[in-house]
Amino acid sequence: FTKNHKAVPVADKGWKDGEAVPYAALVSTFEKIEATTKRLEILELLTQFFLVVAKRDTAKQAKDSNLLKVVYLCINRLCPDYMGIELGIGETLLIKAIAESTGRATTKIKEDLRKEGDLGKVAMNSRNTQPTMFKPKALTVPYVFQNLTEIAKATGNASQAKKVGIIKKLLAACQGNEAKFIVRSLEGKLRIGLADKTLVVALAHAIVLKGMSEKKIPHDQLAAKLEEGAEIVKSVYSELPNYDLVIPALLDTGVEGLKERCKLTPGVPLKPMLAKPTKAIGEVLDRFEGKEFTCEYKYDGERAQVHLLEDGSIAVFSRNSENMSAKYPDLVEQVPRAIKPTVKSFVIDAEAVAFDLETKKILPFQDLSRRKRKDVKTEDITVRVHLFAFDLLYLNGESLLTKELKERRALLQEHFQPVESEFAFAKSSDSQSTEEIGAFLEESVKDGCEGLMVKMLASSNSTYEPSRRSMNWLKLKKDYLSGVGDSLDLVVIGAYYGKGKRTNVYGAFLLACYDQDSENYQTICKIGTGFSEEFLLESYNLLKPLEIEVPRGDMEIGSAKPDVWFEPKIVWEVLTADLSLSPVYAAAHGLIDSRGISLRFPRFIKIRDDKSADEATSAEQVSEFYQRQVTAGGGKKGGGGGE
Ligand code: ATP
Repeated sequence: FTKNHKAVPVADKGWKDGEAVPYAALVSTFEKIEATTKRLEILELLTQFFLVVAKRDTAKQAKDSNLLKVVYLCINRLCPDYMGIELGIGETLLIKAIAESTGRATTKIKEDLRKEGDLGKVAMNSRNTQPTMFKPKALTVPYVFQNLTEIAKATGNASQAKKVGIIKKLLAACQGNEAKFIVRSLEGKLRIGLADKTLVVALAHAIVLKGMSEKKIPHDQLAAKLEEGAEIVKSVYSELPNYDLVIPALLDTGVEGLKERCKLTPGVPLKPMLAKPTKAIGEVLDRFEGKEFTCEYKYDGERAQVHLLEDGSIAVFSRNSENMSAKYPDLVEQVPRAIKPTVKSFVIDAEAVAFDLETKKILPFQDLSRRKRKDVKTEDITVRVHLFAFDLLYLNGESLLTKELKERRALLQEHFQPVESEFAFAKSSDSQSTEEIGAFLEESVKDGCEGLMVKMLASSNSTYEPSRRSMNWLKLKKDYLSGVGDSLDLVVIGAYYGKGKRTNVYGAFLLACYDQDSENYQTICKIGTGFSEEFLLESYNLLKPLEIEVPRGDMEIGSAKPDVWFEPKIVWEVLTADLSLSPVYAAAHGLIDSRGISLRFPRFIKIRDDKSADEATSAEQVSEFYQRQVTAGGGKKGGGGGE
């Protein structure tokens, strides 16, 4: 980084200190990022741009800064995830707005889209060939941000017309290639290959560089400062994933003191720690040999991060940082009964499970998924939930993330109390013997659980690692021991019309994993057996509105040819007998082999509406599954090509 410091031209033209950043300056950075796949170059481009923006943001603007809006537009969000204001406008509405704004027929726009595969480019070309009487006033970043927010917030009867109206106004003001990115932002994805983790590092680097004097310092010292800054911002952001709070603090005081100012805070959900799959108890013991570890029941419900805020209110967040307090009014009522008087504020990590009040038994996940998601009233609830708490992340003003699990667990048990049919601690066993783990696994399944979570209990390896899929948490799922060790969560991106009785619905589906590096969806298998007529009809109704004309530019399709394509939104959990290299599908291509990897005999398990499409199983995980199966000697190396 430091050696190439001057290699990339700085985008510093076009606005003065304290002025709004021209949208064209951001778009020019997007173009340069899109033109390269080199991660370091992307980092450098973004750092330089953020640096210029940050330098011209005056401290007084910190809360309302250009930098904040620039960062949000780069990650294509408008606020922290948990506030639930999202873009993702459907293709039909966008086509309508582009047609009306540029005076072209929708059929022409669709035709261009089929050729181009990118509605952003179609909008740009339509706009640039449109005769204009006078040059429109240049768009600025705050103006675009504000209009996108209005679009995302529009609800109710007249909202479609309102959205089209604002989109038309924005498009009419676009110059050069701006329309391409406005439309991609509206679609919900920029497709420039900019990963969120790169952005965090670029932000940190820009702030470190901004805080340095003009005097040259030796390369190694600069590199160390940049690395240290990146580590600080990464760790702070994983505890407090809210740029509305982190960026003003960065602009104000730099990376020094950031840890003091921005800490885990009840009310702001942190990204949950995730587990690695394992195929056998032996694998668990290999990993944890000689270490202190614990096995907990792996409850089959929905992850619930429960917060008690200083003001006494309770908030429940999903795995996805969505605020679920309105979905679980019963949980919000129940939790206070489990709190001892010593507790003023907390964050616990737990699983909400459907529960039968009469038999006092856990119910399967399917029962939980029958609950309504919106406007739930406690008196209408038929499926009760029971909370099983397994971790305490924050207590009475103090973050516990860096404490050992043993200590966090002790604090959890000290400050909370079980309440029959409502609240309990995850059942655990600290035994280290193979036989006892085996017996505990059997018992967990008998009690309606999926298997075990095995966790490092002591040492520095047992801290809570937000957002990380960690080797210090292993999942051991009973059902999957004979398969690949875990299920996969895949995005439905296409479908094939049914045959015979099923001609009016889709009979089979094309699934994809998500490659986090390229930010592309990659086809992995066709799935078409084991569906009931009822399920196929439901799926048809759910997926039909998501149909798109052509596969999007961020779909790597291999040679799959479904009858229809979908916006990538719906995630399904799927089991497979094994994985094989495939000339047809694109999943994880280039990681193991130039061919992709596909699933053999995939079987649908459930809809994962707690996961968004970009949280689907990653290409890297797919390649890990494949590799483990090859090293275990069970898999096929050759190209079956999937179902
Ligand atoms: P991943 O979170 O690894 O992507 P996933 O969301 O598909 O996978 P699982 O494979 O079922 O979920 O495993 C992890 C999930 O198990 C957690 O997110 C949590 O919801 C649930 N869970 C149940 N019991 C526990 C427990 N005792 N400790 C941690 N997680 C648990």
